[in-house]
Amino acid sequence: MPDRAPQPVDRQLPTDEARDLISLVRDIAQREIAPSAAEEEDTGRFPREVFTLLSDSGLLGLPYDAEFGGGEQPYEVYLQVLEELAAARLTVGLGVSVHTLASYALAAHGTKEQQAEHLPAMLGGGLLGAYCLSEPASGSDAASLRTKAVRESGGDWVLTGTKAWITHGGIADFYTVMARTGEDGPRGITAFLVPGDAEGLSAAVPEKKMGLKGSPTAQVHLDGVRVPDARRLGDEGQGFAIALSALDSGRLGIAACAIGVAQAALDAAVSYAAERRQFGRPIADFQGLRFMLADMATQIEAGRALYLTAARLRDAGLPFAKQAAMAKLHCTETAMRVTTDAVQILGGYGYIADFPAERYMREAKVLQIVEGTNQIQRMVIARHLAGPEER
Ligand SMILES: Cc1cc2nc3c(=O)[nH]c(=O)nc-3n(C[C@H](O)[C@H](O)[C@H](O)COP(=O)(O)OP(=O)(O)OC[C@H]3O[C@@H](n4cnc5c(N)ncnc54)[C@H](O)[C@@H]3O)c2cc1C
Repeated sequence: MPDRAPQPVDRQLPTDEARDLISLVRDIAQREIAPSAAEEEDTGRFPREVFTLLSDSGLLGLPYDAEFGGGEQPYEVYLQVLEELAAARLTVGLGVSVHTLASYALAAHGTKEQQAEHLPAMLGGGLLGAYCLSEPASGSDAASLRTKAVRESGGDWVLTGTKAWITHGGIADFYTVMARTGEDGPRGITAFLVPGDAEGLSAAVPEKKMGLKGSPTAQVHLDGVRVPDARRLGDEGQGFAIALSALDSGRLGIAACAIGVAQAALDAAVSYAAERRQFGRPIADFQGLRFMLADMATQIEAGRALYLTAARLRDAGLPFAKQAAMAKLHCTETAMRVTTDAVQILGGYGYIADFPAERYMREAKVLQIVEGTNQIQRMVIARHLAGPEER
């Protein structure tokens, strides 16, 4: 059975250009990504050539300004592109989302000179990015990070510390690194753009993961890495605020990827249920399964509507952080439920690697953890409703 039956989603797209873009992405996904997804996820191969193709096709800078090589697409379009890519292979959809996240600090807070120097290569020149906030001892409590950046008498910054769980760690061409330059807590953190070949930067052996095995996740060690002040992004002490506003948008990317994985699992379950016969009938005839499929499809449509609502608020320049957290929470919970149900619908065949359902289920799990666990999303939503917690 193919990884994903070709059942295009009916999408709400604002322009003909956006419709053409989605057609292009579906074509790339079906020809270049889906056919090798299962095998490469099994062996843990990262498809660097696919990212080169996406870059050459203008798909690695979609939501950014055209002035420095971006695609100038609204978020509602960019996210639907991510959804299509993630449905074909999460390693690719999530990789594009992380690259976009890594480019955010420079695109939103860099100076014109910094943007002119670095952005064109990042958004369309074949480079791949990584975003470095988490550390071994600071995950959810990211503001307690300990990687240090010390300035040498008005000259270069020297970065020392270890970042953990870094997607594209060891293969990225640039790393957006949050490091401590001042007091404890969120106000003492500054963002830096560190080249992948900087002396003193090295990556550990990638983690052995439950799923998403083609996407390398590794600790990144910074051992006295020298970074000129011209690579500081934003003001000193502004790094944590930049990191969080990057994550507001990044969470929408994770939500869209989750809906892509869920849609792929639903498509696989529908195809299988139509073909598999028991008691002399296709199992798709049994109401017990028909209702499961109906619930799966309904949850997916609700998730898509929620991430698009948040994206349209963002596109309109309105606050969207609460809706982004809701979208990340709802869409990733949906992906977990839908992929689990897909395994159930395939019965024993759902549990073996000859069919894609078990891979989707393993992939869905990580989406409940990355870019703020779903407990943290609930904290963010509750703060919007009830104000900050008392200590
Ligand atoms: C595959 C993968 C890729 C990743 N990629 C990146 C990346 O590219 N860049 C990056 O910076 N990071 C990345 N991460 C890190 C990820 O963002 C963290 O794993 C995540 O934020 C959780 O941090 P932690 O693992 O340290 O868990 P912890 O923060 O230690 O949390 C452990 C548990 O406690 C819960 N918890 C913590 N605090 C609270 C609270 N106040 N209330 C209720 N529950 C709480 C959490 O929800 C979780 O269930 C990646 C992680 C994975 C697994």
